[in-house]
Amino acid sequence: MGKGKGKGRVIGMGGNPQQPPQAQMKLDPTKLPTVHCENCDSIFWEEVTMFKEVPAVQSPNGQKSMLPIPVVRCAECGHVSEKFLPKELLP
Ligand SMILES: [Zn+2]
Repeated sequence: MGKGKGKGRVIGMGGNPQQPPQAQMKLDPTKLPTVHCENCDSIFWEEVTMFKEVPAVQSPNGQKSMLPIPVVRCAECGHVSEKFLPKELLP
């Protein structure tokens, strides 16, 4: 995991978001529990991006912009686990 780092970053309209460098973790994945989908029990996930609109008055550069929020959803049924996305962020 380790996602959600770039949450506070605001990019302009049509901006090109840069991927934050992946942190090197010294963990053995074979000893870690696999995250299963609560809905369909799938173990595969995909990352999609949700955007929040930032009004000009709240934007750091004074211009209307978009705040990208990375979201992980189940690759099988599209279920978004609360492990990856807090409920408060959902519309
Ligand atoms: Zn699922």
